[in-house]
Amino acid sequence: MHSALQLAVLAAAFLRLQALTPDEIAQFRTTGTLETNTGIAGWVAVEDNGRQLYVTSNGIPDHRTGPFPGPGNPNTIQEQSFMLKVRKTPVYADTPGCLPMGPVGLAINGVPLYNPQSAQCEDAVIHERFDSCHGHPDIPGRYHYHQNPICAYVQEDGKASPLVGVAADGFPIYGPVDETGRTLTSADLDECHGREVNGRYQYHITADYPYILGCFRGRVLPDAGVGRRCVCPVKRTAAQSHQSVLYLLRLIAKQGKQTTD
Ligand SMILES: [Zn+2]
Repeated sequence: MHSALQLAVLAAAFLRLQALTPDEIAQFRTTGTLETNTGIAGWVAVEDNGRQLYVTSNGIPDHRTGPFPGPGNPNTIQEQSFMLKVRKTPVYADTPGCLPMGPVGLAINGVPLYNPQSAQCEDAVIHERFDSCHGHPDIPGRYHYHQNPICAYVQEDGKASPLVGVAADGFPIYGPVDETGRTLTSADLDECHGREVNGRYQYHITADYPYILGCFRGRVLPDAGVGRRCVCPVKRTAAQSHQSVLYLLRLIAKQGKQTTD
């Protein structure tokens, strides 16, 4: 009984580590800047219903934007009604989940984060045009990022990157600089573009492909508010395959340890 209680306490501590913390939830806010194309301000809100978090926004960026329609992009930014529903305690998926087209997460300013692909399944960062904040609108007028949203957060010199957003599986997304001040690349991450920090999984944005997410490491709720259809699987690199094997070995070792405690 005593050891069962200890196990329950340990499990609770482990699970708590996986949820977005109150400090992280507080990062979801906008600057109130009027967006120049639409003339309106962006907003974002996070509601906690006890089991899930609802992240809602109008998708309007709270920073400077390029003129849209503009060179290489004929679309117009339009106000949206985003609702991302994520588990407070993310659950690891048995196998990584393929990323849909459209939103795969929301940045802390309420602007959606997309997978790295264009509608033609090419590297969007190479083949499409973006404004100086690394965003652009798609045909339905959704302004979005496929790469580091440099105007959505502040990166201080020599400091670990702050929270940048949350993925649809509930795992947080951080910027490229780790807790030692080193700038990460995709070779430092698994194929989903994340790693464990102090027992919790988190994604990282990097300057190299796939930039934000490579796949979902966690299970996505059926009504998460993102697409379900896999159109363009993200190709993993040899370095990421190596990281994935290491990740699986660590997971197996951890599970073995938990069952024998
Ligand atoms: Zn795009």
